[in-house]
Amino acid sequence: MIGDPVLREQSAPVSSQELASEDMQQLIDDMIDTMRAANGAGIAANQVSVAIRIAVVEVSDNPRYPYKPRVPLTVLVNPEIELLGDETVVINEGCLSVPLRGDVTRHVEIRLSYLDRHGVAQRQVLRGLTAATMQHEVDHLDGVLFSDRVDPRTLATWPEFEIHQRDDFVARITEFVKRTDS
Ligand code: ZN
Repeated sequence: MIGDPVLREQSAPVSSQELASEDMQQLIDDMIDTMRAANGAGIAANQVSVAIRIAVVEVSDNPRYPYKPRVPLTVLVNPEIELLGDETVVINEGCLSVPLRGDVTRHVEIRLSYLDRHGVAQRQVLRGLTAATMQHEVDHLDGVLFSDRVDPRTLATWPEFEIHQRDDFVARITEFVKRTDS
């Protein structure tokens, strides 16, 4: 959780040899289990105290973020993001390591390059909330939390967000998702 120095470390790249090891494959499986158990949309290795450049992302029917478009299970090893265009969107984000939500400005379109868990190079152009989720996860690997980028006056606990902000945010972002992700 926020305050643990491991969340502020620059995570170390993973070699192909390390990636193929049983320990690393087990870590990836553990991260997937942890993400699913916590209803996260993603988790980075330093959130489970290992400062290496691996993150996993998956969005299905997520009770924490019901407005997010689906993302198949994706294992990101040594991911890199190139920001495309200059369109941005304000998204109310949460994080398994920060017990608050708040508004963050993200790029709408990115190119994401990474190795999958088998060491195969992948490259995708992503838009909208999915692109934002990837930016949040890669930030983790660089020791950056969403609370570093947040508009501080929008910070809210989850219960206060539910009462005061959820309806307006979900209406706005659902409209954005319709325009952007489909
Ligand atoms: Zn996070």
